[in-house]
Amino acid sequence: MANKIKVKTTLVEMDGDEMTRIMWKMVKDKLLLPYLDMDIDYYDLHMKHRDDTDDKVTVDAARAIMKYGVGIKCATITPNEDRVKEYSLKKAWKSPNGTIRAMLDGTVFRKPILVSNIKPGVSSWKKPITIGRHAYGDVYSNTEFAIPSAGLLELIFTPQDGSKAISVPVFNFPDKGIAQVNFNLEQSILSFARACFTFALDEKIDVWFSTKDTISKIYDAGFRDIFEREFEINWKDKFSKAGIEYFFTLIDDAVARIMKSEGGMLWALKNYDGDVMSDMIASANGSLAMMTSVLVSPNGWFEYEAAHGTVQKHYYKHLKGEETSSNSMALIFAWTGGLRKRGEMDGTTEVVDFANKLEEAALATIEEGTMTGDLLLLAEKKPTNRKVNTEAFIDAIAGNLQKKLNG
Ligand code: NAP
Ligand code: MG
Repeated sequence: MANKIKVKTTLVEMDGDEMTRIMWKMVKDKLLLPYLDMDIDYYDLHMKHRDDTDDKVTVDAARAIMKYGVGIKCATITPNEDRVKEYSLKKAWKSPNGTIRAMLDGTVFRKPILVSNIKPGVSSWKKPITIGRHAYGDVYSNTEFAIPSAGLLELIFTPQDGSKAISVPVFNFPDKGIAQVNFNLEQSILSFARACFTFALDEKIDVWFSTKDTISKIYDAGFRDIFEREFEINWKDKFSKAGIEYFFTLIDDAVARIMKSEGGMLWALKNYDGDVMSDMIASANGSLAMMTSVLVSPNGWFEYEAAHGTVQKHYYKHLKGEETSSNSMALIFAWTGGLRKRGEMDGTTEVVDFANKLEEAALATIEEGTMTGDLLLLAEKKPTNRKVNTEAFIDAIAGNLQKKLNG
């Protein structure tokens, strides 16, 4: 083996759980370590280790991303009651993704990996549609309650400075009912806008933003206005130099247009819309295992991961000694995304080239017909198609990578 490629700045690595932890090690051992000389700041986010450290390891990992700029994360268990029993945990710790996202003030962008032999559910889509989901407030941190009887519902806002409280009548209930109050923060919406414009400029793609501003004239229209102001002040010139556009449209119109578009844009959405639409885009592209995810902070920090979870069912099969056919594409693309970003930040073209070649090798493997079980069901039927197990898939990619590196 010739000299390894030197990755100049430290990369932050976050290991994870279950089947993805098994694949993570194979990816490192077979696709990365033989070729790269990396200085890695390693954080083990295994469920048990998070518990042992009272989740301090997650906080330390987030701080390391703030220090070095780029982190790469394996999927991790978000514990519920079952997991508390399974791993004898002190408590159901918070989602590591939630903790890291809050510390980085980041926005998550999900982008499908496209291969020529798997056609998206929407035939006009030629390029990946990236979803940017605002991940603060709205229905996810609402206050909701059951109205027990007839009566007046009012909202009261009490200013901290002691000035007069504001009271808004909401509804005069004739009888029992239900109610919900949502909120958001201007600063959070602004960070979301900045993360979206940063990501789009980085990828050289248009930004579409859509809310229900015709009905919600203060809340949804507020999102629209914050985006518009931020774009005009800080991004308009950069976008026009890059030949890309920003436009806002009513969510109904955006849905209709997306279905007829050829893709290739960033679609920015409020929290709930983004939750739902990202699942739609994922299923229209086939497999969760072909969806990448990157957390972009307005401070210029990046965290790459797969959009899927720890593939628990496959892991239990693996523990029983049964053969698995789990797809490592999104995990591989988490590494290539992080390496490419590191290379761009450090100005090391050989690192960027390596990331590109590894992606090409992975895509070529599937396009040649060698794939995991999830993809075999979706791919165009050809006699050369063959289903391989978890490890054989990574080995096939390693073979293609070696050929590419040999020129
Ligand atoms: P999941 O791990 O995403 O898997 C759901 C199903 O999707 C799998 O059973 C499998 O379907 C298919 N799938 C997902 N990834 C695949 C891959 N790489 N290759 C082949 N098939 C794949 O979701 P889950 O089972 O609901 O969640 C398991 C754990 O992951 C939970 O503890 C959850 O907290 C955690 N989670 C973590 C993250 C994260 O860290 N970002 C995200 C989501 C969930 P078949 O069984 O039909 O083959
Ligand atoms: Mg969802």
